[in-house]
Amino acid sequence: MKYIFITGGVVSSLGKGITASSIGRLLKARNFDVNMVKIDPYLQIDAGTMSPYEHGEVFVTDDGGETDLDIGNYERFIDVSLKADNNITAGKVYKTVLEKERRGEYLGKTVQVIPHITDEIKERIKKLGEGYDITIVEIGGTVGDIESLPFLEAIRQFKKDVGKDNVLYIHVSLLPYLKTTGEVKTKPTQHSVKELRSIGIQPDILVCRTEVPIGEKIREKLALFCDVDREAVIEARDARTIYEVPLNLEKEGLGNLIVKKLKLTEVYSRKYSGDSKRVFEPDLSQWRAIVDRIINPLHEITVAIVGKYVKLKDAYMSIIEALVHAGAKNDTRVNIRWINAEELESKNYMDILDNYRENGELGGILVPGGFGERGVNGKINAIRYAREKKIPFLGICLGMQCAVIEYARNVCNLEGAHSTEFHKDTPHPVVDLLPEQVNLKEKGGTMRLGAYPAVLKEDSLTHSLYGKKMVYERHRHRYEVNPKYHHILERNGLTISGMSPDGKLAEFIELKDHPFFIGTQGHPEFKSRPNRPHPLFDGFVRTILYNKIR
Ligand code: GLN
Repeated sequence: MKYIFITGGVVSSLGKGITASSIGRLLKARNFDVNMVKIDPYLQIDAGTMSPYEHGEVFVTDDGGETDLDIGNYERFIDVSLKADNNITAGKVYKTVLEKERRGEYLGKTVQVIPHITDEIKERIKKLGEGYDITIVEIGGTVGDIESLPFLEAIRQFKKDVGKDNVLYIHVSLLPYLKTTGEVKTKPTQHSVKELRSIGIQPDILVCRTEVPIGEKIREKLALFCDVDREAVIEARDARTIYEVPLNLEKEGLGNLIVKKLKLTEVYSRKYSGDSKRVFEPDLSQWRAIVDRIINPLHEITVAIVGKYVKLKDAYMSIIEALVHAGAKNDTRVNIRWINAEELESKNYMDILDNYRENGELGGILVPGGFGERGVNGKINAIRYAREKKIPFLGICLGMQCAVIEYARNVCNLEGAHSTEFHKDTPHPVVDLLPEQVNLKEKGGTMRLGAYPAVLKEDSLTHSLYGKKMVYERHRHRYEVNPKYHHILERNGLTISGMSPDGKLAEFIELKDHPFFIGTQGHPEFKSRPNRPHPLFDGFVRTILYNKIR
């Protein structure tokens, strides 16, 4: 078992997660079994209670983990389904240690960061590595943060525990470019490596984020001052799409360098009985084809996303990526027109939307998930517009709930229909809590979380897109379409195209006589991969494209 630890220096938002994911892809392309772990040094148990404003989207795993969005990047790049445990937080680690302490398991010893916290960290990583050839561990934050110290200490000890040939430290850093002098500066990287070395970690490889090519001189300088091989200074220039990063890093020789440094040829020939072809010749052909279509597509469409967090794109990361994947499959660039839902709460929302439409920005309307009342009526207005003007519509979670509210109010004539999340005493609670949710006090982890099955209605659009009867999507919500209203909605023409297997919960809705109007209570965006676009996103994009070029 081999371990790759990835740290970040100088500034945050360096693309450490994409670097880690790309390394995962390069190793997968060499036929290795790879697991990936994200360490978040914050004190939360999981990302479930964090605001998307501050931290970007909460990514949900099959087993119901509410995780950091990097777990989503890992899943998309290495095409596996990860688990809640793949996201280690300081909160989880401390909780386990404190629970053990209360049970008296430390037998009177003083419970300390070293060794108790560090041991717990190491144990978790080792457990995650079981059964895999290589485990990639990304340490969140930047070297020098107080919070990440116990984690860095744990990964330092790791080398001792499992042997130096089995551990690789990769440091992702920034080389700022000074326009005035036309220079690439190495000093911040030198400092951050120095900081890393002061806690006992000598990086084996430097991945240098840079706007411009770095050239031999800079490489030599970094190699000298940071004490790494010259070939281990890897240039990571800004890419045209995140999916291009693995290809760029491969060109820089990172894949083969990792193979050499971790002695992966041995692992490979043991695994594939003597054959060592692929270990230096990764198969990236499919990946390359996808990247080509993302960069140079034949067509172009624009989708409007009507949401609350339109200022921070990370809040909708998986949705954006799912659109990219579906776009690549359809040889189409999917532009996004962000519309703040509150903007559509005014009386003249029709004019505003007409305007977007005339500008060609309303190829389709997507209403994503969300919590809280802000902008809800704007979303409902946008959905009414999509329904009446026959604009392709995809409603996700809250987006589906809003579609149900809209249909109840404007088609079923249920005046004042609403979700009890937003209006407790609505005369028509078409979206409501199920009895088992009503009495919950703690907010973290009390939602319907993780993968749930749904049975699709035979001759529905939803069914024909998925091409199967039983589907699993990941959920993250408390409210449901109120079963008491299923009948009224259906009688008035809304199709409930997917139900929970017990027939109680509406999982998918759709409309006949509309080119594409689908709502889903789950979050299909979490399962979309570049090589396997999600069928709903694929269908949505295809319909919009068809409308445009028809
Ligand atoms: N706020 C809604 C609920 O809790 C929808 C949640 C979501 O869109 N993820 O049911």
